[in-house]
Amino acid sequence: MQPFSVTEVKDNISGINALSGNSKAKIIGGGTNLVDLMKMYVETPQELIDINHLKLTTIEVHLNGGMRIGALVRNSDLAYAELVRKQYPVLSQALLSGASAQIRNMATVGGNLMQRTRCPYFFNTSFPCNKRIPGSGCPAINGFNRSHAVLGTSDKCIATHPSDMCVALTALDATILVQGPAGERKIPITDFYLLPGDTPDIETRLQKDELITGIDLPGISSGLSSHYLKVRDRASFEFAITSAAVLLDISGGIIRSARIALGGVGTKPWRSYEAEEILKGAPNNAQSYQAAADEALKNAKPQKYNAFKIELAKRTLIRALETTGGKS
Ligand SMILES: Cc1cc2nc3c(=O)[nH]c(=O)nc-3n(C[C@H](O)[C@H](O)[C@H](O)COP(=O)(O)OP(=O)(O)OC[C@H]3O[C@@H](n4cnc5c(N)ncnc54)[C@H](O)[C@@H]3O)c2cc1C
Ligand code: SF4
Repeated sequence: MQPFSVTEVKDNISGINALSGNSKAKIIGGGTNLVDLMKMYVETPQELIDINHLKLTTIEVHLNGGMRIGALVRNSDLAYAELVRKQYPVLSQALLSGASAQIRNMATVGGNLMQRTRCPYFFNTSFPCNKRIPGSGCPAINGFNRSHAVLGTSDKCIATHPSDMCVALTALDATILVQGPAGERKIPITDFYLLPGDTPDIETRLQKDELITGIDLPGISSGLSSHYLKVRDRASFEFAITSAAVLLDISGGIIRSARIALGGVGTKPWRSYEAEEILKGAPNNAQSYQAAADEALKNAKPQKYNAFKIELAKRTLIRALETTGGKS
């Protein structure tokens, strides 16, 4: 590991100043992703800004029925918070399907939002990688790409976004709260992540000197049911091959509204507005679910080893829809 210094900051402004003052500085939350990458020389910060003493550890209910979650809330604390389990069970399920209990106890909300891809070529500095070194090439495209994305890819990068939490947050229409030298701003999660295009090294709209301070979740109507389903190679401690976060409002056998996000298949947490349109006003039956799944994967582009993901993602979504909305 390359030598580095650690600066503990006590308030947001000091954290932002420390980030602005050193282009080789990085924030550290729980360290469960960043430290692994530092050990592999994928990340080589000179200075770690330790934000663990900032007052970003609360979960607060909004007057309008929504919720504000601090960036330093640990993944376990968020998953087990009674309010989250009652109001946003899809988020609790997604969090608990990720990593292991020990990692969830350390991992923060901000760190989970900013975790990097698990593409094995990205993790191994003996390979080129456009995400690590722009313009160096993408060995995954003609290499072993079983775990890679089928939606949102480019000829520069096909890496999958790894987070479970972010898939649920995408279906929940979360907003990311950030603070930087120019003040505070709010970014809808559906805009926060960028497609790889020609610049896979630029993954989000967060600027280098900005800090994530929290997440806002809108209130949810009591008629909504939700579910997160994850398919993986082993039952725990494993990233998604495919996943689906689903929210449905059904009355009288008709789907009044639907929200759908997919994981494991996209270069970013994948919201499918097209599938939602298919479901709106349709009966909650097998034909509607199949049509929505076909629509969600309509533009999927398989690589040599991951074509199986297209059918698997459809089945994952259909199962999640059946679990949430039943079948009439
Ligand atoms: C073995 C293993 C298995 C895993 N399995 C899963 C899984 O199945 N599903 C899943 O979703 N995840 C999984 N994870 C990933 C895990 O969820 C992340 O490592 C964790 O969420 C990162 O949080 P952290 O606080 O430790 O981040 P850190 O490692 O501290 O930071 C990660 C990145 O976020 C940045 N950052 C942190 N906080 C902020 C902030 N407030 N503002 C701006 N930038 C910030 C850091 O600078 C860094 O770039 C796994 C990890 C491991 C090691
Ligand atoms: S898929 Fe993306 S992260 Fe993986 S090797 Fe190619 S450019 Fe790098």
